Amino acid sequence: MNLEAFDSITNELKQYNAKLVAVSKTKPNSQIQGFYDKGQRIFGENKVQELGEKYEDLPKDIEWHFIGHLQRNKVKYIAPYVSLLHGVDSLRLLKEVDKQAKRVDRNIDVLCQMHIAQEETKFGLDNNELFELLDYVKDQKDFNVNVVGLMGMATNTDNTNQVAKEFKGLQVLFNDVKEKYFLNNSSFKELSMGMSGDYKIALDHGSTLVRIGSTLFGNRNY
Ligand SMILES: *Cc1c(COP(=O)(O)O)cnc(C)c1O
Repeated sequence: MNLEAFDSITNELKQYNAKLVAVSKTKPNSQIQGFYDKGQRIFGENKVQELGEKYEDLPKDIEWHFIGHLQRNKVKYIAPYVSLLHGVDSLRLLKEVDKQAKRVDRNIDVLCQMHIAQEETKFGLDNNELFELLDYVKDQKDFNVNVVGLMGMATNTDNTNQVAKEFKGLQVLFNDVKEKYFLNNSSFKELSMGMSGDYKIALDHGSTLVRIGSTLFGNRNY
């Protein structure tokens, strides 16, 4: 683990009013505890079972963020404790989150994941799907899911202009959605973008949550 990087990133984030999601997937509890002891409370995972085991064993005031694609049949396992889902990428998944949130008598915060990269393989909604989802949410009376923002992953490329263009596009969309759907609702405030390789560009385009793994924990061996 790289505590120097942790210090410099957390200092940098203060100037932007952004928060760090320490992406701990594949990493042992001892390292998570190490960052916890330095004050970090938000950790990100992308496997339901791994998250469950870590949740059991680590301090209960950790805010666990689920950052990847989530299968509908697995929502029930994390619904009791997850603090933010970054990867809501369909209306069907959103409805399942609502169902499971009701079952455990919680309200669950989610971000809608937008497809902003050039790669075909990355999950995410297009703009029409997003508006359809938000129209649905708007009409619900008794809904246990709060859409608190948007998430996106830029193309994996060295071309920083391309990455900046994609983050800029998501920032514009975020502001449009806020104006159109959440004018009197300050809860829509999170823009999750930026990873180890591109978080500085993301901060320059309004990111409020950067998801950083390898810079803090070292490279992952799958
Ligand atoms: C793994 C992962 C990250 C962190 O990536 P690093 O390059 O290691 O910082 C961020 N976001 C998502 C969705 C991830 O799956």
